[in-house]
Amino acid sequence: MSTGGTESTAKFAGLAVAGLALLLCLPCLLCTGLGGAAVSTPEDTTGATGHQLREGAPVPGAYLAWVLRAGNLCPEIGPAEIAAQIDLESSWNPNAYADSGEVPAKGIAQFTDATWASWGRDYDGDGTNSAYDPEDAILAQGLLMCDLVAWAKNLVAAGRLRGDLLDLAWAAYYAGRGGVESAGGVPAAGPAHDYPGQIRTRLARYAADTAGPGGAGWRLPVPAGAYTLSSGFGPRWGTFHYGQDFAAPAGTPVYAAAAGVVIESDCTSPYCDRPGGLNVPGCGWTVAINHGDGLVTRYCHLRVTRVTPGQRLAPGEVIGQVGSTGNSDGAHLHFEVHRGGDVWPTEANAIDPIQFLRSVGVAV
Ligand SMILES: [Zn+2]
Repeated sequence: MSTGGTESTAKFAGLAVAGLALLLCLPCLLCTGLGGAAVSTPEDTTGATGHQLREGAPVPGAYLAWVLRAGNLCPEIGPAEIAAQIDLESSWNPNAYADSGEVPAKGIAQFTDATWASWGRDYDGDGTNSAYDPEDAILAQGLLMCDLVAWAKNLVAAGRLRGDLLDLAWAAYYAGRGGVESAGGVPAAGPAHDYPGQIRTRLARYAADTAGPGGAGWRLPVPAGAYTLSSGFGPRWGTFHYGQDFAAPAGTPVYAAAAGVVIESDCTSPYCDRPGGLNVPGCGWTVAINHGDGLVTRYCHLRVTRVTPGQRLAPGEVIGQVGSTGNSDGAHLHFEVHRGGDVWPTEANAIDPIQFLRSVGVAV
């Protein structure tokens, strides 16, 4: 953002209340992972649906959880849109400072002081409310972008703006709502004209293929080279281990192993807000995906999850991060594959994930 300068703080005041109302809902969303706002369906009529992150998207690990949160606030703005915009604004530099001669822009999402006054909060609760606090700034960016999309939608419906909703919202992020409204759309020339295209160019580096279920094959649930195989499928400790463990550092992204629909996303242990232990029962943060053809995958012990039951996933979409919640003594992904007539995962229909992945051509 360079200016926001054409928007007065007063004009923003009413909108900030909307932002705050969203914020109040956040704690429950974050602890349950049920951030339903990002569920997008084919019935969406907005013409714009946000993108999930692609495998290997260059989001710094320290910011991944906040990019996922900010990209989970409205259907039009996904994590990939958030990430591509940050890439353009600051190249992920939380201390970025730009003074184009008008008003300085600060931090990872390049807020002006006036816009920060309306949208900035201590969202991460660390005692600092600052555009230079990357967690605060990323969530503020998500809230502002969703508000700008809603604003653009209203004005397009009213015949006062023309153009793609996302382009309009991005142009307004850069130039302020007044600058876009007085032009009747994205300005015909200049930096505000170029800004949406520059983000779209970067989107290709961050966005998952959105072809949807049925479009592609299988892949590893964690980045190649980022894991070691630990406990395998089979008898263990006098019982039976129904999955394959991928040991990996906490925070490693976890991917949907194939296209499908989320059928479970919840905490299956007494608590999931911190690592569990071998005396803690349950699978911790758990996601299950129905891939059709009687195949279901299940992902356990996640640290962060963002998906919601009913959500359709493309292969390789990020569904969370490796953690150690539930019955776990260290950071790892417990990955199950189920095949059978009943799509719900049960012990009876679990199969060896490594054998299965190899049978569908995945190198493990
Ligand atoms: Zn396991």
